[in-house]
This record gives sequence, structure tokens and C-alpha cells, in this order.
Amino acid sequence: MDHAHDDQLFAMRHSLAHIMATAIQELYPSTKFGIGPVVENGFYYDVDVEPRLTEEDLPKIEAKMKEVIKANYPFEHSTMGLDEALGFFKGQTYKIELINDLKNHGTTVAKDIDRSVIGASDEAKVDEVGIYTDGPFTDLCRGPHVESTSKVGAFKLMRLSGAYWRGDEKNAQLQRIYGVGFTTKDELFKYLELLKEAEKRDHRKLGKEMDLFVFSDLVGAGLPLFTPRGTVIRDELNNFSQELQGKGGYQRVAIPHMTKVELYKTSGHYDKYPERFSVTSFESDDEFMMKPMNCPHHTQIYASRPRSYRDMPIRYMETTVVYRDEKAGEMMGLSRVRAATQDDSHAFVRPDQIESEFESIFNMIKIMYTDVFDMPYRVRLAFRDDTDKYFGDIKLWNSAQASIQKIADKLGVKYTIEEGEATFYGPKIEFVVKDALGRENQCGTIQLDFVQPERFGLEYTDDKGQMVRPVMVHKALLGSLERFMAVMIEHYAGAFPLWLAPEQIRLAPINDSKEIMDYTYELKAKLTAAGLRAEVDSSVESVGKKIRAAGLAKVPYTLIIGEQERESGKMKPRLRTGHARSDDEIGELSVEEFVAKLAQEVADRSPKSLLS
Ligand SMILES: [Zn+2]
Ligand SMILES: [Zn+2]
Repeated sequence: MDHAHDDQLFAMRHSLAHIMATAIQELYPSTKFGIGPVVENGFYYDVDVEPRLTEEDLPKIEAKMKEVIKANYPFEHSTMGLDEALGFFKGQTYKIELINDLKNHGTTVAKDIDRSVIGASDEAKVDEVGIYTDGPFTDLCRGPHVESTSKVGAFKLMRLSGAYWRGDEKNAQLQRIYGVGFTTKDELFKYLELLKEAEKRDHRKLGKEMDLFVFSDLVGAGLPLFTPRGTVIRDELNNFSQELQGKGGYQRVAIPHMTKVELYKTSGHYDKYPERFSVTSFESDDEFMMKPMNCPHHTQIYASRPRSYRDMPIRYMETTVVYRDEKAGEMMGLSRVRAATQDDSHAFVRPDQIESEFESIFNMIKIMYTDVFDMPYRVRLAFRDDTDKYFGDIKLWNSAQASIQKIADKLGVKYTIEEGEATFYGPKIEFVVKDALGRENQCGTIQLDFVQPERFGLEYTDDKGQMVRPVMVHKALLGSLERFMAVMIEHYAGAFPLWLAPEQIRLAPINDSKEIMDYTYELKAKLTAAGLRAEVDSSVESVGKKIRAAGLAKVPYTLIIGEQERESGKMKPRLRTGHARSDDEIGELSVEEFVAKLAQEVADRSPKSLLS
């Protein structure tokens, strides 16, 4: 999408907010209007309507909007002095409040209100406001708009929700009407289809249906509990991450989940985590907290003995939980939790090792996301700008940033440089992964850190016998395992590749005769012994129903066990995509061939079936 297109779409969506307000004013003349900004994919308007609107009113408002669009009213701009505006908007309580704020303070104060939607200019001093009129409706506004009401593309009203005036719960609760708007009907249709598909794949819905994780009111919000099936996925993801890191020279360490607060006062993080969880001790005068991160703890393992330049890099990895208190309203399934498990790691490196360390990590990311997950990703290089808010030697910063960029170029990854987005303690690299629906998720991160080594006085002896500071490299390949699981569930729509599937093989005996059942369980024992996860469908349902049930449970392979299979010791596995269709059948295989193929598919963490 080019920039001109974006601007035009913005004007369309913004104009749609006016058109919706026009329709509402026509339908409910006593309505008081709040504000109506553009949001992602569309727009909303906050309104105070008596009696309150319900979802059933949306089609009526849509129909009225279509009349306004058809009338093709031009958007006419004018300005009004503040006192004139106060007179004009008399009775429009919320608009009057905004105009009065402009008059008295030169601003509308509330942070959540975009000044442009209320007609104010960027100047602090305001003596007039912008006004736009389309047919019967006039609003405080600064634009931009389309030329006339017919030029707004395609739209749909989506939902109603409550919204406090100016986001403050002490204020009146208005109703927020959300709509989406696109340049063409086709784009709108595609967006609505995507929403439908996203709903079907919602990890909260699939997590329940597939028995992967649960929440308990007794345990608390944002604290997911993983079932045996969900734990398989978690463990497989974590094993993969640790295996990759192990090959990269990382060693496992383990730390407790609470600490004296002094650790975080020393690291400088204490004040940065107001959402920390405190822990009370009755025995000790010390103040404790649950750990919101792992790095400060890992520095204490590094600092526990003298280090030489020959030992570097020293790399620790640990998959462990960090605790951050999220607001109750902000927690969502596995995407936003209070206890997040990270595949965290910290490497302590010499400055001359930064480049090779980054190359090694970029390669891990490539194996993980390209070879195994088969998901496209882009890289954000968050670098410093010229301001002086950064800590550490400018020469070290520059050479580190140059090294990072050099590696990205060398490996041919798609990246953007985000100047000014580095943290104060070092440049940062974010990996943004695109899922099957084209949605982007930030998963892995690498962070260079010049500050914690300083704060904790970390040292090693260099080749001249001098004590010098190492640089710390923080890294998470998956990020939060909970969030990553949510991404995986939605990306695969629950149809996991073999290595991640909680149940890999479903055995479906055609009847419950002793011979068939004995053979089925014998086969299950063989598969289990080969490290595969197999289950028997021992229900009395027909084979057709058993095949359908396995399909619904998204089990990768189904084996029908009948007299013929028992006698020949061969099988015709069915692939997950299949229901009762013969073209999903794979040719006949012996048990040994089947086991060998599947073991290979798991070992490769293959995104595709090796039998198809
Ligand atoms: Zn406007
Ligand atoms: Zn860290």
C-alpha cells in the first residue's frame, strides 16, 4: 500500500464517522455526540442516545448512512470563533466541554483525544475552531475528509460497546459504535472473511475444544493451567528451543522464582516494575518479590567466580516463569498473562565477540521460523538516535550496530532500522512473525546490554591481565511460551504438525472383537515404545464416525484396524486432511515402515507429512 492510498483511506474512514453521526442525528435528534476518530481498519463515534441503542439498531443506522452517502453531500469547511461555537453547539454537552477546555486551557487536556478530531490546531493558543458540514450535520473537526459523502468506499457497522467520556470512569458512560471501512467492496469482504476465519481459530475457543489449557477462578485470572495435551505442546516447543541453544553453546541454569528486592534495586529495575508482585516473609525483615525478569539473577551466577577472556562467551539459558501484574481487563487467554514462561537466555561476551554471537542467534532464528515453523518474518533493528539518553560508550554502540546490520545483510534477512527505538541500555532486535492469516506477532527478541554488567560490576580478565566489563546479550527465541502457543494454535488452526501434535496417531478398530482389540493395543504399545503418541478410539461407533472424530480432533494420522490389517500386519494410514475419502489414504505400509517414517518426521520437526 502506498502512502497516498493510506491517506485517502484515512480520510474515507474519518468521513464515515461523520456520516454515521449524520445518520444518528437524523434517527435520534436528541443525541449528544462525543468524539469520532479513525481506528485500525475503521472508525467509531461515541454517542449519548436516549433510549440506549442495542445491536438491533445497527442495521437501521447502516441503512440511514447509505441514504446520506447516496445524497452525496459535500464536506464543507468553515471556522467559528470559540464563543460563536459555544452558541452553535448549545445543548451538545460534550462538544461544549471540549470547546470550553480549548477556550480556558488552549487544549482538551485528556490524552486519549486526538486534537485533530475536535478541530483544534497544534498551536497551544486557540481562538477559533474548524467546522465541517455534510448536509444536515455539522461537527467540530479539522479533517481531512473526502470531497463528498458518496466517496467513502465500502463500510459495515460491527458492534456497540460502552465507553466512558474521555476514558474516565467517573464520567458518563457513552455508547461507542464501531465500523470498518475499506476502499472497495472486495477489500471489505476479504476483511470480514478474515475475521470469520480468525474467530474459528481463536486460541481460547480451540484451547477449550482441544483440551489444551484451562483457567480456574480459585487460581486467578491470567494464570493458565496446562492440561496433559497442552503440556505436550509446551514441552515440545521448549525442547526445540533448548536444543537449538544447546548446539549454540548455551548451558542450562536454574533460579528460584522470588528474590530480595535489593537485586532489583541494584539492577535499577525496581522502580520500573510497579506491577511487581510482593512476597511477605514472617521470619525475615527482608522485602521479597516475585521475579519479573531473569537477567539480574543470571548475573549473580556469572559473578560467582573469576572469569577469563578465554572462557567467553559464557552463555546461560533457562525456561522459566516471570511474574507481572497485568490489569484484570487486559488479560486475554494465553496472549496476555500474569505468569509468562520465557525461553530466556543471557550470554556474557567480549566486545569483539558481539558480531559472531549475533550471527549464531540469527541462524537459530532462521532454523526456528523458516525451516521448522515455515513462517515468514521480518526484523526490526532498534538503534539509537543522536539524543543523549543512551548509556554506554558511543564507540561500542556504533560498532555493535554496524555488526548487527552486517550480519543481517550477510544472511539476507528482511530488516528495517528503527532509529531512536533502542532502549537506553543497548540496541534491540525484534523478530516479527507472520501467521497463516497474515497477522503479525512479535516473537523473538535479542537485546544488547551495556548497563547491567556495569551495575553489577561484572568483570573478566582480558589477555593483558586487565579487569574489563563483558557485554550482556539477552535473548528469547520463542518469547513467552504462552503467547507463542496462542500464535501456534491460531496459525495451525489446531492442526499441529506431527512433532507438536498432542495425539499423533488415532487407532480406530472396526469392531470390539477380542482379536481386533488385542491387535490394536499391541500396535499401540509398539508405537508408544517408538516414542510416538497414540490413542485408541474404543467407542462402539462406526468406523466412519471414528474417522470423522479423529478429523475433528485434528489428529495427524488415523489407522483403521480390521481383520485384514491384523492378518497382514500392514496398514493404510489416513492423513488428517481426510475424512472418509479414499484419496487421503496413503499406500500400504508395514508397521516398521510406518514407525520409521513418523520417527523421521518428528525428528525433522517437519512442517509437512513425510507420507503425503
Ligand atoms: Zn472530520
Ligand atoms: Zn534478560
